[in-house]
Amino acid sequence: MSIKDNLKNVLDAIDQVKSSSSGAAENVDLIAVSKTFDAHDIRPGLEAGQRVFGENRVQESQGKWPDLKSEFPDVELHLIGPLQSNKAEDAVSLFDVIHTVDREKIAKALSVAMKKQDKVLKLFVQVNTGEEEQKAGIPPKEAVAFVNRCRDEHGLEIEGLMCIPPFDENPGPHFALLRKLAQKAGVEKLSMGMSGDFETAIEFGATHVRVGSAIFGARG
Ligand SMILES: *Cc1c(COP(=O)(O)O)cnc(C)c1O
Repeated sequence: MSIKDNLKNVLDAIDQVKSSSSGAAENVDLIAVSKTFDAHDIRPGLEAGQRVFGENRVQESQGKWPDLKSEFPDVELHLIGPLQSNKAEDAVSLFDVIHTVDREKIAKALSVAMKKQDKVLKLFVQVNTGEEEQKAGIPPKEAVAFVNRCRDEHGLEIEGLMCIPPFDENPGPHFALLRKLAQKAGVEKLSMGMSGDFETAIEFGATHVRVGSAIFGARG
């Protein structure tokens, strides 16, 4: 199947769950995750009308997106992978949305970079809902306080929360926890759900689903 067909199937599936599920958000944005794929594979997605894309590495994105963005200026580019503070300036200049704010140092670096570039990005705080040692994200217990500190101490407006559930667990409880934390923190957006579980995520109120392989195929 072509990337265009895959994209249509995912968009149809999103509409289907949205209309049949009482917990679904009114608007669900599809982030087409194009990490590891080059401009040749991304272009058919753009030509089919997709404008929201996700990448997990700043450096890889710098190699392909500046040209694509000047050709398709209404693209919205989301950073969904871990961010190092020394890459904050580069991230702010290339991306429109960052999903992985998860510690004080990053909050501060983003605040400084956004002021310097006079640019305001939309930000999500990543929560490590499974409390996995190897995974990025703020622990669930600290999430609400961290959102408040981002706002009060760093002047950042946080739009929502993001999570990546443990891959070997039922994701439902993780999505439910993220939704509960977002309510407590007073933020509206929920970035959750990937190729294997985006339909479940929508049932739990996802506003942003991050779908890669179901659109672009398996990564090498
Ligand atoms: C790669 C990635 C995705 C997309 O995963 P698929 O299973 O290919 O849909 C979503 N979110 C994050 C954070 C990722 O790194």
